Amino acid sequence: MKKTSIVIAALVAAALAVVLICDGVFFKTVRSDFFAMDSYVTVEIKGPDSEKCAAEIEKEVKRLDEKKLSRKSEGSLVYSLNKNGSGAVDAETGEIFLKLFEICEKSGGAFDFTLGAVSDLWGFGSDPGVPDPDELKRVLSHSGYKKITVSDGFLNMGDKEAIIDFGATGKGIALDEIKKILDKSRVKEAVINAGGSVLLYGSRTFAVGIRDPLGDASGYIAKISVPRGCVSTSGGYERKFEENGKTYHHILDPKTGRPVENGLASATVVSESGFLSDALSTACFALGTRRGGELAKEYGCAAIFVSKDKKIFATGIGADKIEIADASYSFGES
Ligand code: AMP
Ligand code: MG
Repeated sequence: MKKTSIVIAALVAAALAVVLICDGVFFKTVRSDFFAMDSYVTVEIKGPDSEKCAAEIEKEVKRLDEKKLSRKSEGSLVYSLNKNGSGAVDAETGEIFLKLFEICEKSGGAFDFTLGAVSDLWGFGSDPGVPDPDELKRVLSHSGYKKITVSDGFLNMGDKEAIIDFGATGKGIALDEIKKILDKSRVKEAVINAGGSVLLYGSRTFAVGIRDPLGDASGYIAKISVPRGCVSTSGGYERKFEENGKTYHHILDPKTGRPVENGLASATVVSESGFLSDALSTACFALGTRRGGELAKEYGCAAIFVSKDKKIFATGIGADKIEIADASYSFGES
């Protein structure tokens, strides 16, 4: 593939800047980071079990990635499903698929977890470039969540060329598992950032910065005040490349197989569930402000959209909980 320039946003760039407001340090705070799920995961824990917990979290996230969710890891469940076109799924994974089908349906197909082969054709993560239109059409015709069936603990892909991809939800699923570990421990407070999906753990309000989707990873454009829970952001800046002066990003329109173009620069979803915040942030990005906002509302989640023309739209969260930090951004009329 020939291209004029390639810009892959550094994976280390966390999508959210999390601002912890300390209320007296009575416990040791442990900070660590590691690489999993194609992202840097940063862990910050305060409490008596913090060191043990941080080690347990790293082990669990890597296990989930390697044994279950990573389609690139030869030992994972999803790798084997993609390779064989079918296979047994445990009850917990079966539940995840049911929830995924629901989001695909409710998003009118804008969210689709079977676009792995299409993403590969664009070369995100390896050798990016605009694919040949005929090849794109062919590969896209083999994708589609509607071809997949899951019943009695058995998944059938329907089309062996489709590739299941947990890219939009894996980090949120990991946050839910991390929360279970924290619940069993004596940890008082924790902030875990898995490449743009953040778990806020503790009995207080957290201030979370929404990254500037049009600038670099160091700046944030607004600060939101949220209670414990999960906050995920999907942005066109996360994985992208430039070819012939045009920028292409990694969130695809399942109807065309091409990057979604709807004027949005990022979508952030706040939910108690890591799975929902992650899945819905991707779905909201794909759907755009109006339909994305309706979907978030249907799930009882808050959503904050940032458009390329620097407008902020929010639903399910009061304007008093959003503090604009960059004067070039303002609230848009919805
Ligand atoms: P996120 O960063 O959570 O928004 O997820 C983006 C990832 O989800 C991409 O890198 C792809 O792996 C996958 N993806 C791309 N487009 C879609 C889509 N329309 N629906 C579901 N997953 C998608
Ligand atoms: Mg997501």
